[in-house]
Amino acid sequence: MLFSDYHTHPRAHRTQRYTQALLQPWVDAARKVELSDIAFTDHDRFREGVDFDEIDRLREQNPGLKIRAGIELDNDPASSAIGRKWIEQNWDRLDCVLGSVHFFDRADQMFDTVPAGAVQFEGHNIDDLYADYFRRVREIAASGLIDCLAHLDLIKIHGHRPSAEIGSIVVETLELIRARNLAVELSTAGWRKPVNELYPSDQVIELARVKGIPFTTASDAHSYAQLGDGFDRLAEKMSILGVREVCVYTNHKRETRTVA
Ligand SMILES: [Zn+2]
Ligand SMILES: [Zn+2]
Repeated sequence: MLFSDYHTHPRAHRTQRYTQALLQPWVDAARKVELSDIAFTDHDRFREGVDFDEIDRLREQNPGLKIRAGIELDNDPASSAIGRKWIEQNWDRLDCVLGSVHFFDRADQMFDTVPAGAVQFEGHNIDDLYADYFRRVREIAASGLIDCLAHLDLIKIHGHRPSAEIGSIVVETLELIRARNLAVELSTAGWRKPVNELYPSDQVIELARVKGIPFTTASDAHSYAQLGDGFDRLAEKMSILGVREVCVYTNHKRETRTVA
C-alpha cells in the first residue's frame, strides 16, 4: 500500500498564496485516498505564494497527516537563479526539494507543455536532445540544493525516443545521483501524458534500484483530485520491479519505509 505523495502543486498555475482554504482540501483528499504523508512542491517560480506559517497551522489542525514543505526547483532561465537563493534562505523550513529540467534553450516555453512543447523537438537530433537534457539534469543534481529528482526522464513526454539504449544514456546521471545521495521519484504523471509511461521507465528504475538509489512516490497533482493518482497501478509496477521501499523526508533527512 502506497502512503506518500511527494510531488503536488496546490497553487497549480494560479497566483494565490497558501491559505487554509487553499490547502485544507488537499488534506481532505489525502485522507480520502488513504495517504498519510504528502509534500507540497509548487514550482520555485511561484515561491512567493509559499507560506511556511500557513503550513505549520495546517499541521496543527491535521495532526494525523504528515505534511511536508517542499518546492520544485527547475532550470527556468528567468527565475531559477532567484529560486536557488530562496531555497538557500529557507532551507531549514523545507523538508524536501525536487529538482527538474523543464527548459532547453527557449526561455519562453517549457518543453513539457502539451502539446505545444513538442515543437522544440522538431528538426533536432533526438540523441543530441537526450544528451543535452541529461546534462542539465546532472547540473541540477550537482547543485547541492535538491533532495530528489522529479520525473527523471521527462524528455520522453511527447514520445521521442533515442536510438541508443537508455541505459548507456542515463548511467552517468544515475552515478551522480547515487554519489550525491539523492532520491528519484516514481511519477504516475507520465501515464497522463502522450508518452503514456511511468517516469522513469522500467529500465531506468531497474538500473537505479541496482545502484541503491532510493525512490519516492509521486503524482505531480495539479489539483487535489489528482492526489495519489494511479497509485494502485504504481504499487503493482513496483512489486514487479522489486521496489519494496520508499523514502520520506523530514527537513531533508531521509527515512526509508517498506511498502510491500
Ligand atoms: Zn515538473
Ligand atoms: Zn511538478
